[in-house]
Amino acid sequence: MIGIMGAMPEEIRHLIPHIQQVSRKESGMREYFQGILHDTPVVLVFSRMGKVAAATTATNLILEFGVEEIIFTGVAGALHPELRIGDVVVGQHLYQHDMDASPIMPRFEIPLLERQYFETPRLQTDRAMAAVRRFFEKMDAYISEAEKTQFNIQAPAVVLGDIASGDVFVSAHAHKEAISEGLPGVQCVEMEGAAVAQVCYEFEIPCTVIRTISDAANESSEVDFPRFIETIASNYSEGIVLEWFRQRKDLI
Ligand code: SAH
Repeated sequence: MIGIMGAMPEEIRHLIPHIQQVSRKESGMREYFQGILHDTPVVLVFSRMGKVAAATTATNLILEFGVEEIIFTGVAGALHPELRIGDVVVGQHLYQHDMDASPIMPRFEIPLLERQYFETPRLQTDRAMAAVRRFFEKMDAYISEAEKTQFNIQAPAVVLGDIASGDVFVSAHAHKEAISEGLPGVQCVEMEGAAVAQVCYEFEIPCTVIRTISDAANESSEVDFPRFIETIASNYSEGIVLEWFRQRKDLI
């Protein structure tokens, strides 16, 4: 069983109709959609936003539904100056940028785990990169020319890179700079990925985090983020996750 997560309904809603023999189950204020996607048993859920919401949902996916792997799909604010709205980041190292128990332990270190980040296995990042590339090739089936023009999406890129999660919507240049200064090289910022990665690390199952850039984590985010979420975030998640499962099926 594979768990598919998003933080917001918009990040998963287009996937629901693709699940066969779907059944719904409510648990802990979340609605889980269980069924078959490309011959694979799956359970789909939106966790709500933030690290606690994501961590409890991931834990429940593992304990109540028995998932052996989690794939998280959603949006993020860009930290790297070359990232554009519509580009995709596949998480390699996942940091919690608001974790700071210094001076007792180094900044960003996760207490008792003696690590500052969670790493995604190579098999998972390879699969995710391939799925995003295939989605880009077929993008016209998911996103109209008008939508692409609206967001100035021309030749979107996919990068394998580091992601920082924290319980804050970053919408000020100074804040973005401060995060980049503490964690140089991090590509984008969001609010759940590293929490899910921590749960998966502790339960020893693989986790993949795939994030589409919805905004530049600055003063424009207030406008860019809701527009992106309303219009095309669901299409990206749908296309990327479907390609991920298609490709996985081809490999079995
Ligand atoms: N006020 C917003 C809250 C958005 S939270 C609302 O009304 O819905 C932003 C969500 O998108 C989180 O799930 C997070 O993972 C992601 N995200 C996108 N851009 C982000 C940014 N600039 N900073 C932090 N999280 C961001």
